Amino acid sequence: MNPNLTADRPTFVTHLECSLTGERYEADQLHGLSSAGRPLLVRYDLGAVRSFLPRAMVEARATDLWRWRELLPVRHTENIVSLGEIETPLVAIPKSSGSPSVLVKDEGRLPTGSFKARGLVMAVAMAKELGVRRIAMPTNGNAGAALAAYASRAGIETIILCPDDTPEVNVREIALQGGRVYRVNGLIDECGAIVGKGAAEGRWFDFSTLKEPYRIEGKKTMGLELAAQLGWRLPNAIFYPTGGGTGLIGMWKAFAEMEELGWIGAERPRMFAVQASGCAPIVRAFEAGEEHAERWEDAHTVAAGIRVPKAVGDFLILRAVRESGGRALAVGDPAILQAVDDCSKQDGLLLCPEGGATLAAYRQALRDGLVDEDDEVVLFNCATGLKYPMPEAGQELHKDKVGNLGKL
Ligand SMILES: *Cc1c(COP(=O)(O)O)cnc(C)c1O
Repeated sequence: MNPNLTADRPTFVTHLECSLTGERYEADQLHGLSSAGRPLLVRYDLGAVRSFLPRAMVEARATDLWRWRELLPVRHTENIVSLGEIETPLVAIPKSSGSPSVLVKDEGRLPTGSFKARGLVMAVAMAKELGVRRIAMPTNGNAGAALAAYASRAGIETIILCPDDTPEVNVREIALQGGRVYRVNGLIDECGAIVGKGAAEGRWFDFSTLKEPYRIEGKKTMGLELAAQLGWRLPNAIFYPTGGGTGLIGMWKAFAEMEELGWIGAERPRMFAVQASGCAPIVRAFEAGEEHAERWEDAHTVAAGIRVPKAVGDFLILRAVRESGGRALAVGDPAILQAVDDCSKQDGLLLCPEGGATLAAYRQALRDGLVDEDDEVVLFNCATGLKYPMPEAGQELHKDKVGNLGKL
């Protein structure tokens, strides 16, 4: 058994806070958005964590997600339904990036094959802790798959709504993992409107991105892990494929918490929010100097995971990117597919399209002088490339007529 999941550990959550107004909310109660309609952030007694948990104590633990227990919201260990949330490796891709200091954090190794597992393992544990029996969610695929897996394990019912062009593998894995899945003739925010309506009628709890407070806490572990893996430093730049932005917001929160704990200094990576040019609301708002992003009409891209026309946490993404001195960047589908092809053929690492988008954006940033070749850069490969359609391959070979094997 994983000792991080058998030991009962003290918890340090004090309250929740509206990310826009700072309004305070009680911990240990079920919450959705704040009264201002914005995400709630979990707050901890970091002074107490600081005295209880020296950095060396974390270092001595097994390196999975649960080593960070004191910085996570779950009070009771028995509510955690785990499928083995490992620390994901940092893999160099020197050939396709052209630099030995570009590392891919390969999140495709997580349960259900994407980093959605980090957010959903936390949100489901909290739902269990707070007595939720039925959950609904709009999804482009991976979030629904992670929700279905963890909720089934926790004995919670799920209703999952996907746009009807969601990758087939996602729809099927959701069903196979016990979710009731529907294909909707609309985009993710239109699926979200249906989920919101049912939640208002009291039919289920709404698990839309950032509409419950705990997915950010799960995704925050990417930032904690990164610091630990790099010897309590952070890289010069992070390229994050941005849909709802949970991970970018979560990492930014993790960096602030670690600084308050004295685990890292004040330096921050430049945060690059990467979107597809067919759906780039954050990039448009960034360039226009806006605090919020307008809905993107006619959204389309091969990178379904970042096809999010409107994000409730838009201002949190934009703030983090601006405070960090980073940028929001859009890349086209051809550049995304080229990056996936190059990385797998040259470096042997099969990225998902959204991961490919981060490599494409890195290449663009290098050309535009936004990063240097010797900058230490982390790209997020958010899901396993194996979930996505691949080009046809494999020539026929007759077993009795192989001819000259030197021609193979
Ligand atoms: C959800 C998802 C994203 C976007 O992540 P956010 O943190 O919600 O912005 C990117 N890529 C893949 C494959 C995803 O499933």
